[in-house]
Amino acid sequence: MARTLTRAAATELYARLAEARPEPKTELDYLNPFTLVVAVALSAQATDKGVNRATGPLFQIADTPQKMLALGEEGVANHIKTIGLWRNKAKNVIALSQQLIEKHGGEVPHDRAALEALPGVGRKTANVVLAEAFGEATIAVDTHVFRVANRTGLASGKTPDAVEKQLMKITPPDYLHGAHHWLILHGRYVCVARTPKCLVCPVKDICLFKEKTGAQRKAATSASAKKPAPSGAKAKKR
Ligand code: SF4
Repeated sequence: MARTLTRAAATELYARLAEARPEPKTELDYLNPFTLVVAVALSAQATDKGVNRATGPLFQIADTPQKMLALGEEGVANHIKTIGLWRNKAKNVIALSQQLIEKHGGEVPHDRAALEALPGVGRKTANVVLAEAFGEATIAVDTHVFRVANRTGLASGKTPDAVEKQLMKITPPDYLHGAHHWLILHGRYVCVARTPKCLVCPVKDICLFKEKTGAQRKAATSASAKKPAPSGAKAKKR
């Protein structure tokens, strides 16, 4: 059975990530809830930087569903051709704009089911929009959050939904709002996919990842030896 952190260890982990990034926020550029939905939907299998490069000029001319619809699929496609899966994404952006106008008066709905019913919008995008645009405490699980949660032992699960459920349980209320950003940024810049930077990782003495390598593992071990790990750092089975 996969090892998971105790609540005390999870709290300490969040405290350290929060200390490293006191004001976590999305790296996607957006102007309003509508452009946020579009930006997050475009970010699937693309980098935030790449999405921002494309949406900068696009949002200048189309920052509402009405203007996006007027631009047309071809017009949207021309702006996002540098992003992966652009054909399908252009189609979805037009379809979701249409749906927002027809069913929601041109506004982004503050409702999970309605968000997930929009073309190209899944649970992850809905979670990001609910958190960013409406201040709800949700944790969107993307590839970075999924990896960091499983490696550290914050949550163990084979699917994003399973990881999300566990994260919602183990994340202390005070950290719920920033959790998605802290985990995503930690995964993007420190706990990277191929060779995690364990040596400089602020939570290396808490993390349960077995494959910390060479000097990285040595550093983690000596850090744990010098400093007593938080009481909850002891692994337990779930
Ligand atoms: S110690 Fe390594 S594996 Fe664990 S969270 Fe830090 S970077 Fe990731």
